Amino acid sequence: MSALAEAEGAANLGQGFPDQDGPEWIRAAAATAIGEGANQYPPGRGIAALRSAVAEHQQRRYGLAFDPETEVLVTAGATEGLTAAVLAVAGPGDDVITLEPFYDSHAAAIAMAGARHVTVPLRAEEDGFRLDLEALRAAAGPATRAILVNSPHNPTGTVLAPEELSAIARVAVDADAVVITDEVYEHLTFDGAEHTPLATLPGMRDRTLTVSSAGKTFSLTGWKIGWATGPAPLVDAVLAIKQFLTYSGGAPFQPAIAQALVHGDGDIAELKRSLDRRRMLLLEGLRSAGFRTVRPSGTYFVCADAGPFLREEARDGAAFARWLPGAAGVACVPLTAFCRPGSETSRALSDWVRFTFVKDESVLSTAIERLKGLG
Ligand code: PMP
Ligand code: GLN
Repeated sequence: MSALAEAEGAANLGQGFPDQDGPEWIRAAAATAIGEGANQYPPGRGIAALRSAVAEHQQRRYGLAFDPETEVLVTAGATEGLTAAVLAVAGPGDDVITLEPFYDSHAAAIAMAGARHVTVPLRAEEDGFRLDLEALRAAAGPATRAILVNSPHNPTGTVLAPEELSAIARVAVDADAVVITDEVYEHLTFDGAEHTPLATLPGMRDRTLTVSSAGKTFSLTGWKIGWATGPAPLVDAVLAIKQFLTYSGGAPFQPAIAQALVHGDGDIAELKRSLDRRRMLLLEGLRSAGFRTVRPSGTYFVCADAGPFLREEARDGAAFARWLPGAAGVACVPLTAFCRPGSETSRALSDWVRFTFVKDESVLSTAIERLKGLG
C-alpha cells in the first residue's frame, strides 16, 4: 500500500510508521555511540546496559522483576522476538492460538514453525472490538502449545479489558500453554485505558514471554531494537533460535535505546498526548466523511467500515483500499489483510479498512478533506 500511495501521490494512512522521527537526543546518542566505536557485533543477548534498562522499565512500570543476565533478551525488533519465540515453543502437531484479526507476522511465524494456526475472533461492538470468550475457551485443547496475544492490538486499536486478559490466562493455565505477548504499543493508550502485561496476572509470569520494542515507543521504527522478557528457560529457548536468525544487531542503537528507556518518560508522555490529538482528528474526520468507525483505545490505528462507499470498482474493503489512492488520493489497509482467507472474521470484516493517525496533522487534514469528497 505504501508503494501504491507513493505512485499515486496519496496521503499514506496505510502503513503505520511516523512522519516525525523520534527525539533528537536519542538519535544523537546513537551517533555518539558510532563515534565511540559501538560498531561491531554486540553480545548475542544484547548489551548489558540495554538489558538492565529493559528490566528496570518492566519493574518500574509494571512491578515485574526480571534478571537482566538471564531473563532479558535483545532482539532485532519485536518481529524477530515474536518469530523466534514461536519457533522456540511450537512445531508440527502443535496449535498456536491468536486473536483474529492478527498482525501479519504472527501468522507467518506460526507457518514457519509448522504449527497449526487457530484463531479467536475480535468482534466490532459499540465500545470497541471485543474478544469472543466462548470461542477462546473452545479454541484451546490438548494440542494448544502457545497463545499469541497482542494488546494494544494492531489493527483494531483494542486494549484488552481485564476480564479478557483473565480469560486468556485461565485458558493458558488449563491448557498448560505458553503465552507470547506482543506489547509494542504498550505506551500508546488513550481514554484512560491502561496497558496490563499478561505476565502480571496470577500464575502467568512463569509461562509468559513478553515481547516489545523501541520502534513505536520512541518513533524509531527503522532501528529495529526489540526485547523479550520471561523466565530463563523460555528466554534461553528464544536465544537458541535468535542465535541463527541474526545472532545480534543494532550495535549503536542499543546504548541509545538503553538511555531512552531510562530517561525518556517525558518524551513518551508527549508522544501519547500528540497522538491522542491526531486520533481524535482522524476519528472525527472519518465520521464526518460518513464512515462507521470503532473508537480505538490504543495503537496508531482507527478501523472503519467502508460499506457505504463500496461500488462497482470497489466491491469490498480490499478492492476499496486498492481503488482509493487513485480515486481519492488516500491510502489505507483492508482488515482482511489481517485475517485468514475465508475465515468467519474475514467475512465479518470484509468491508473494513484501517487508517493510521501517526502522521502529521496536515496530512490527516488533507486525507479527511479528500475522503469527504467521496460522497
Ligand atoms: N507487532 C505489531 C502488532 C506491530 O504493529 C509491529 C510494527 N508494525 C510489530 C510487531 C513489529 O515491531 P518491530 O518493528 O519492533 O519489529
Ligand atoms: N506495523 C506497521 C503496520 O501494521 C508497519 C510494519 C510493516 O509494514 N510491516 O502498518
